[in-house]
Amino acid sequence: MKTMLIKNARFIVQSLPFNILENGAIYIEDSHIQAVGPTADLAHYEPMADVVIDASDKLVMPGLVDAHNHVGECHMFTLFGFLASPLTGIGDALDRVVWPAWCWIPEEAAYDLEMLGFMHLLKSGTTTVQDCFMWPDEAGRAAVDSGLRVENSPTLVTSLRLKDSKGPEDDLARTEAAIQKWHGAANGRVTYRVHASATYNCHEWFLKECAALANRYDVGFATHLAESVDESKRARSVWPEGEVRRAYDLGLMGPKSLFFHSCVLNDEEMALYAETGSSAAHCPPTNSMLGNVAYVPKMMAMGVNVGLGTDMPTHDMFKAMLSVSQQHAIMPREMRGLMPWTPLEMATVNGARALNLQDEIGTLEPGKKADIITIDLSRNTRLFPLIPQVLSTFITVNGTGADVADVIVDGDLLMRDQQLVHLDEQAIMARAQGWADEFLAYYMDMVERGEPLIPYIHDEFQP
Ligand SMILES: [Zn+2]
Repeated sequence: MKTMLIKNARFIVQSLPFNILENGAIYIEDSHIQAVGPTADLAHYEPMADVVIDASDKLVMPGLVDAHNHVGECHMFTLFGFLASPLTGIGDALDRVVWPAWCWIPEEAAYDLEMLGFMHLLKSGTTTVQDCFMWPDEAGRAAVDSGLRVENSPTLVTSLRLKDSKGPEDDLARTEAAIQKWHGAANGRVTYRVHASATYNCHEWFLKECAALANRYDVGFATHLAESVDESKRARSVWPEGEVRRAYDLGLMGPKSLFFHSCVLNDEEMALYAETGSSAAHCPPTNSMLGNVAYVPKMMAMGVNVGLGTDMPTHDMFKAMLSVSQQHAIMPREMRGLMPWTPLEMATVNGARALNLQDEIGTLEPGKKADIITIDLSRNTRLFPLIPQVLSTFITVNGTGADVADVIVDGDLLMRDQQLVHLDEQAIMARAQGWADEFLAYYMDMVERGEPLIPYIHDEFQP
């Protein structure tokens, strides 16, 4: 049995918004939190602890949950340097940036690209991530090696052919094989969700097949839904009932369903989320790039669980928290109403619920998994004055990923005082750089020769 004691913590944010302990301690046995309380009350554990962390200058809080990301796609951002004009919307972003990058990824690059993204997340305090990526088997191997809690969601799509795809049936079979091999691996730290890319880029029969596969293995289902105003308008021109009602009619909604973005929902559609217990993952970094903001206060008031995602491996959850609070401050007055600490709730407990992990992570309580981060208060004076009642708000507004000192996942210490314990940072960066260079050379060559970068198979928004 491995054991760890965090003691003398200046503050422990046990649960939100105000359950905050001063001079606290946490004792961890294997993967679970055994005890939380005043340091003096837990002193008897110290002789039994393999590792003791003195957190006198630290704030201790639940690890952050990124409810939507594409972890292995850092190379995609090289294309932003070659844009001849600003992106005009989601369709334009997919055509000029996302699909060309996705359709290139060879199997040999998958592990290295994933590891770079996982490392970014780890260093900025994300302990759990929902990861949409291709190459389901390599994604599983990287997730295990990363040390993070990862829900892998291999990307499935019928409108175009991802690298080396032998067709949608084969893609689905490879996802199923990865579920059999990796779901529940590393003491349950790695799980799978069936992910149809979007309801407009997958054939209807395929959406049903994806949902059936999720049911067969009792895992979650996910898709990108109602991301932008453009998408919503186009969807309604093809499916008059709207894309959310269509998802409901196709049997895609339910308590194990997670819908990324969900920015453009009317009252009836929010009610469908609430009725079915479906969760949403709002991603302010990318949603705002395309001019969209989810109506979070209204969704929550209607009983919809809304988690927070970054949608990209180069962002961190602190930035996403700040984004969502700022965006709701500039929304029309009737659409405001976010409590200042709500983004932190979205980034912890709501994210946990979105991934159906609410009984395991999201708060620091005995019996829960030991997914814990610390913030170095000597480094971040913006978190002062240290008044317990405002800490949750200050973390939301003034926290940065760069101040995260220690990261513990499933009881394993992955970063101590900003030093990665298991991962070789330089080697991970060097390997990923090699693939990014290769991708860029491929991209420039294809552009020069006028070759198509995206192997389309059928139009999107099929009636
Ligand atoms: Zn996405």
